[in-house]
Amino acid sequence: MLKRVVAVLAALIVCMSFTGCAKKETKSVSFFAMDTFITISVTGDDAKATLDWAKNLVETNEQKWSATLPDSLISRLNAGEKITPDADTARILERAAQMRDYTLGAFEPAVYPLVRAWGFTTGEYRIPSDSEIEELLGQVLKDSVRRDGGQTYLAGGMIDLGGIAKGMTGDMLLAGFRERGVASALINLGGNVQALGAKPDGSAWKIGIQSPYDDSVIGVVSIKNKCVITSGAYERYFLGEDGQVYGHIISPFTGRPVSNGVVSVSVIADEGAEADALSTALFVMGEHEALDFWRTHEGFDVILLTDSGTLYVTEGIWKDFTERSSLAVKQVCEIKR
Ligand code: AMP
Ligand code: MG
Repeated sequence: MLKRVVAVLAALIVCMSFTGCAKKETKSVSFFAMDTFITISVTGDDAKATLDWAKNLVETNEQKWSATLPDSLISRLNAGEKITPDADTARILERAAQMRDYTLGAFEPAVYPLVRAWGFTTGEYRIPSDSEIEELLGQVLKDSVRRDGGQTYLAGGMIDLGGIAKGMTGDMLLAGFRERGVASALINLGGNVQALGAKPDGSAWKIGIQSPYDDSVIGVVSIKNKCVITSGAYERYFLGEDGQVYGHIISPFTGRPVSNGVVSVSVIADEGAEADALSTALFVMGEHEALDFWRTHEGFDVILLTDSGTLYVTEGIWKDFTERSSLAVKQVCEIKR
């Protein structure tokens, strides 16, 4: 009798593990959206349906939050319309405002008039005159988002969620994956990498930090359930007639593309929206201010590369970071609190 029970139990366990295996699969999808190349891979039941949902979510968010698509909610706000935001749009507007306050204005969605004037929205790059910059800085209106019942409008100026939309979308993707019972997933939205859980074999994800100068990586970060989000001028820039290189992150304080010796900033954190906004903000702050900001704020780590080849790695991520030989890096420093 006992033998029979054991045999039945064993058969049941084998059967259960087989049905489990048969359904769990790893699938990936790659596509272009949000102005960037996107790859998403998930391991779970019905991975194909999950990926279809994911692609659709990215495209929907782009339709709503792009500042360059003329019918997006953001474009309509920028055109002076009152909109009725859906819950996700209300949330990203709220989060963007919080991150602006948290970074004391280094992350500033209202910098959009300058992003546009320098040609980063169209690719028709130009160097605005000092007086134009001065005038447009007057249109960078902190706190211009207003609510009126269920409606939202701008009291003036224009906004751009380009520095936070990919991170927020990543958070929504991972939340949806969790709800669908996915235990392992990796999304890469043009250098914004967000991981759900560990790799299917249980080991940590290895995320390469790209060199700003070529296709090599300057180092690898091992993460589980975290994101690694990088901002760098090398992602979009132009060479001015004056011979200078101008990148797409604009200082809300000067109205000019940031040029402070920082070439790339990666933020490692739990939440994508926070890491995305922070990577943009720390890039604006510059090496010393950015590291001071890290020292005085909790909940994230930083990998920051300067144009003189110093790579700063904060202590929380130090043991999970492995340097790769690269022309971009001359020395690596651990930063402690
Ligand atoms: P990221 O790649 O996340 O650093 O975001 C850069 C994008 O955010 C730019 O292409 C602009 O659309 C927008 N942006 C530029 N400068 C700022 C800034 N200081 N604060 C917030 N968003 C910005
Ligand atoms: Mg960002």
